[in-house]
Amino acid sequence: MHRRLICSTVVSLAASLVSLNVSAAAARRGQPHAAPPTLSVPDGTRLLVLAPHPDDEVLAAGGLMQRVSEGGGAIRVVYLTDGDGYPEGVRFEDHVASPTAAEYRGYGRRRRREAASALAALHLGDSIYTFLGFPDGGLAKLMGSYWSERRVAYRSPYTRLDRPPRSEMLVAATEYRGEDLTQEIALIIGEFRPTMILVPRREDQHVDHCAAWFFLADALTDVRRVQPDFSTDVINYIVHYDAWPFQDDGPRLEPPPALAGGVSGWMRFPLTAAEARAKRTALGRYRTQVHVMSWFLDGFARSNEVFSRPAPFRIALPLRHNRCG
Ligand SMILES: [Zn+2]
Repeated sequence: MHRRLICSTVVSLAASLVSLNVSAAAARRGQPHAAPPTLSVPDGTRLLVLAPHPDDEVLAAGGLMQRVSEGGGAIRVVYLTDGDGYPEGVRFEDHVASPTAAEYRGYGRRRRREAASALAALHLGDSIYTFLGFPDGGLAKLMGSYWSERRVAYRSPYTRLDRPPRSEMLVAATEYRGEDLTQEIALIIGEFRPTMILVPRREDQHVDHCAAWFFLADALTDVRRVQPDFSTDVINYIVHYDAWPFQDDGPRLEPPPALAGGVSGWMRFPLTAAEARAKRTALGRYRTQVHVMSWFLDGFARSNEVFSRPAPFRIALPLRHNRCG
């Protein structure tokens, strides 16, 4: 293989472009109940959204993406997997007890079509989305055991694939190896040059979500190696964390009470009524997910979204020990 990433360099990436709108007057008075911070979205933002599965982008940021678009910005959504490794979903859709590899692949294609429909419902104009076709449920394994070509590539136990479809490889000869995924993400960042990146928090309890954080951090290391002046605003979202957000069914989305909000504190992002309506419509386009867990999607269809900024991070892949789930 002609490419070889040097991803073990440890790097510190300072959180940048801090834009907290804490109530200044309240802060000066030292009031204990100052308004929670909000996330600002500058006009012209170039937003990259890393979604482990189709639907994560809308769950986390269906409103934020609309705001970026309305502000004249550019959006790139990158789906790391097709969400095809979901036995319960495939059983429901195909009415089979033991889905075949072909049925898992078919389910992934269906979720891709739903993603396109969901983004259209958000009126995102000429937004670009990319499916990397990596293995649903297998991303964490790529950070360690299946990092490099020193051993055989990972093979999905669902689709039985060990690489993305050739037509969708951003880098020739990509296989299900961690260094290949890092390189594809780095390539996208280097070309798109996002001013803001949304990625799951490492504390997200879905292993693919946690792994997405590590891959993003590792890819940023690579990008900075060749573009030392590159800086971007890394923003975290969370989708899976204990019973959150279902312990509370109010109109607002409150952050997980047991999880601190990073260096920024949890930042609220209030949606307009129109944005909230479009987000709900977009979530409904994920019919395969509505069929098996509409209650889950509904939990995120509220009047705001929540985000946080990570502390400066030092990430080196591969990992010796699995730090996700
Ligand atoms: Zn997900």
